[in-house]
Amino acid sequence: MTDKEQMSLFDLTPSEVPLIELPRAEGSVDVAPAKKTARSTKNTSPTHAATVPVHEQFDSLDALREAACNCQKCPLAPTRTNVVVERGDRSAKILIIGEAPGEQEDLSGLPFVGKSGQLLDKILESVGFDTTKDVYICNTVKCRPPNNRVPTEVETTTCKPYLLEQIRLVDPKIILLTGATSLKSILGEKLGITKVRGKWYEWEGRLVMPIFHPSYLLRNQSREQGSPKWLTWQDVKAIKAKYLEIISTDSVVDDDEEF
Ligand code: URA
Repeated sequence: MTDKEQMSLFDLTPSEVPLIELPRAEGSVDVAPAKKTARSTKNTSPTHAATVPVHEQFDSLDALREAACNCQKCPLAPTRTNVVVERGDRSAKILIIGEAPGEQEDLSGLPFVGKSGQLLDKILESVGFDTTKDVYICNTVKCRPPNNRVPTEVETTTCKPYLLEQIRLVDPKIILLTGATSLKSILGEKLGITKVRGKWYEWEGRLVMPIFHPSYLLRNQSREQGSPKWLTWQDVKAIKAKYLEIISTDSVVDDDEEF
């Protein structure tokens, strides 16, 4: 990134993007069979419709982690090396959801540590976020799909209770959905990432913004105005502005509480 580009990322103005209201998600959601995507969706599991199980609540993220690490509920369990649950700060105001662990994540047990993850960190750091303190990072599914294929409906719905519990326990103000899989898992299937990226949605009392997946940005290196990378810079500036707005409101409330 040039100095000029770097500087422009810090030229923040409060976001005036209107909120888009979505119907509230229900505890149990019927989902349709998976559609084929550009990446291979070859797998050995059935692609019939699945229903998000009504799930138990965990007392803590440690309890959730332990359950996820012992989970055998879907066809990804036998081929994983590690269950990939989380990284970042468990009390962060921003929670980021990716698709699924890749090879590096499977080997290390940490989400977004491969090439996409390094780019994600760069994007966040370019507007001054500290990726160890300001964000909590997880995935739609916690185990690596073979050959990095897109997770099936059965896999995402089986894993969704863990994701919903991560959101409840971290209790973020802002959720970022990277790419189509997390977008579909949280906001539903009718939205295309190119149309909705950069827009703020209200979901379960939280602000949600879909953004391009870093792996898509790795495949599209142009920085021209209007390119996926350029659009992502606009998005991350809007996210930083919203974050600053939120923490300044929180600190005003805290100040008041002292009297
Ligand atoms: N892509 C994802 O969506 N998640 C990861 O953890 C790594 C790559």
